[in-house]
Amino acid sequence: MMPADLPDPAFGATLTIDLDALVSNWRLLGKRAGTEAGAVVKADAYGIGIEPAVTALAKAGCKSFFVAHVSEAIRARKVAPDATIYVLNGLLPGAAETFAAHGLSPVLGSHEELLEWASFRQTGAQVRPAALHVDTAMNRLGLWPGEGLNLARERSGVIAAAGIGLVMSHFASSEDEAAPANARQIAAFAEIAAALPDLPASLKNSSGHFLKDCPSYQLTRPGYALYGGNPTPGQPNPMKPVVGLEATIIQTREVQDGTQVGYNGRWTAKGKRRLATICLGYADGYPRNGSWTDTSTGGSALIGGVSCPFVGTVSMDLIIIDVTDAPADAARRGGSVTLIGGPLDLETVGGGAKTIGYEILTSLGRRYHRRYVGL
Ligand SMILES: *Cc1c(COP(=O)(O)O)cnc(C)c1O
Repeated sequence: MMPADLPDPAFGATLTIDLDALVSNWRLLGKRAGTEAGAVVKADAYGIGIEPAVTALAKAGCKSFFVAHVSEAIRARKVAPDATIYVLNGLLPGAAETFAAHGLSPVLGSHEELLEWASFRQTGAQVRPAALHVDTAMNRLGLWPGEGLNLARERSGVIAAAGIGLVMSHFASSEDEAAPANARQIAAFAEIAAALPDLPASLKNSSGHFLKDCPSYQLTRPGYALYGGNPTPGQPNPMKPVVGLEATIIQTREVQDGTQVGYNGRWTAKGKRRLATICLGYADGYPRNGSWTDTSTGGSALIGGVSCPFVGTVSMDLIIIDVTDAPADAARRGGSVTLIGGPLDLETVGGGAKTIGYEILTSLGRRYHRRYVGL
């Protein structure tokens, strides 16, 4: 075993995941909503690991989890035997028995799904309550609001037969407070929830917790903010950082003015520069076009507290960094480089890679030494 604070030389990079911060973010969101907060743990809990995340949250009292796929739900079930586990992608044809076998709850989003689930229930199968998804803006999954209202009005019908225990909808632009879609979605969902007064309802994703004039209903569904992502982009991040990423420098070199660097020589040194190579690349979730070239901007890392740009095309297993401005005692073979942490938050890293923090988080590589701390 390596001492906890030294990098394990069998790995090129260390991903540190703070489970105390995860739980504290979940508590903060629940407090803010003033209602039960669930947890969205799809995509391997946004890259941090579904088993450790669900274990920590369930122990802290989280009772409702949301995943995308049945396979993810089965993993969550193993570590949360009593929780309600909703499968957001709904009921694929023929999947009902698997749902029943693991006590999972489909999020039903079409008449076909409602009918298939209802007829499965009629066979006497023991199942947990399902959720009904109403699409108020995304045009992705869910019934139209009008269809939802019609079903709600024929009280005897399919909603009862399908054993619905939750009605939900999903925001399309809640991270943008000024987006006109927010108020439209809030109003459309209020009508649905009012037509189904006996059912608990759920609307808020992470950013929804910070929207003005948005009711929390009975359950919220935060994902990104649990993992430290900023639910209020452009404003200070109210969440605690959960993820830190450090890599080790393999070698350094000095290059002369005009030297081309990396595959296809897409970055050219202007003047004498000092470069360092670290052992992590696009196979570890760093987008190939997320570096500085002669014609485009890119991301950076922190070395001895100094921001140092990625240069040349990101390779599969390696990134080249211009460390000219970094302190020499830090920018050396074996030196440590921060890729996520401190001022390099998920939004900054996402922006540097021409994507969003969500994609950085859910792409976090499988080859890192993963270190879980807290709890
Ligand atoms: C992913 C997802 C969420 C969580 O969204 P965040 O923005 O990560 O908080 C909530 N609800 C649904 C339906 C989702 O697909």
